[in-house]
Amino acid sequence: MKLKVSQLDTGENRFQFSSAKDKWLKGVIDHLGTQGYTVSPTGLDMDLVVTKLEPDYVLRGRLGYEATMACDRCAEPFSLKVKHPFDLAYVRSAQSEGDEDLDQTVFEGDEIDLKPLVEEQFFLGLPFALICKEDCKGICQSCGENRNLGNCHCVASEPTNAFSELAKLRDSGR
Ligand SMILES: [Zn+2]
Ligand SMILES: [Zn+2]
Repeated sequence: MKLKVSQLDTGENRFQFSSAKDKWLKGVIDHLGTQGYTVSPTGLDMDLVVTKLEPDYVLRGRLGYEATMACDRCAEPFSLKVKHPFDLAYVRSAQSEGDEDLDQTVFEGDEIDLKPLVEEQFFLGLPFALICKEDCKGICQSCGENRNLGNCHCVASEPTNAFSELAKLRDSGR
C-alpha cells in the first residue's frame, strides 16, 4: 500500500486499515509468517493520521494486532494482543535539527510505502519479554518438563542431593 502524497489534503488525512478487508495487510501478515511470526488473519489493524506539512509529513497512529507467540520461558504458544502507538516524521531530506523525539524516515517522490511501516511497528510493538504469563515457571533445566503443569521431581530432590554430597565429603575428610 503506497500513499500518493500529492493526492492528500493539506492538514490531517485519516485512514483506517484492517486485515479483515484490506488485502495489502494480509500480504504483511504472510510476510511476517515467513519470519516465524503468526499473526491472526483478521487480527491486524491500523488507525493512521497523515498530516501534510509540505514538503514533510507526520504519520501518527496505532497498530493493533493479535499474534501467536512461543513463550521465552516455557516455549508454549500463547496469544498476544498489542496496541502500539507510533509518531513518525517522513521528510524529504535528513534534518539535523528539529524535533528529536520524532523518528525520521527520508522518502523521495510521491509515495510513502505503508508496508515497511507496518512491519517495523509490529516489531517495535512486541514486548521486551515474550512470556505467556507474568508468573510463568518455565521449563525445568534438568528434565525439560513444563513446570507450569506441576512440579517435576528435580526441584525437591536437588537440595537433598547437595546435602548428601556435603555429608559424603565430610565423611571422607575424617
Ligand atoms: Zn510460559
Ligand atoms: Zn525437572
